[in-house]
Amino acid sequence: MRSRDTFKKVMKQIKRVREPGESPEEQLDSLDDYICDLCKATAPKKEIVQCGFCGRWVCRDTCWDVEVRACESCTGLILLAKSEKKEE
Ligand SMILES: [Zn+2]
Ligand SMILES: [Zn+2]
Repeated sequence: MRSRDTFKKVMKQIKRVREPGESPEEQLDSLDDYICDLCKATAPKKEIVQCGFCGRWVCRDTCWDVEVRACESCTGLILLAKSEKKEE
């Protein structure tokens, strides 16, 4: 019922790192590889996902949470906001 409030609260806490549609950082040695904004690992373009909350490009393998559909950094804040809501 109040999930919109939770969402708004989370959005306020999350610092936008990149704008939507902004390109991921390219790995200079290889045109097909990009750098994960969180773990700094190199990943091919299809394995790198842009987080809709902070705008970071992260590797699907390590830094992307499939269930929350956010990067690991935002997932922590989102889950925290959700658990706080339950305690109300
Ligand atoms: Zn990563
Ligand atoms: Zn994020």
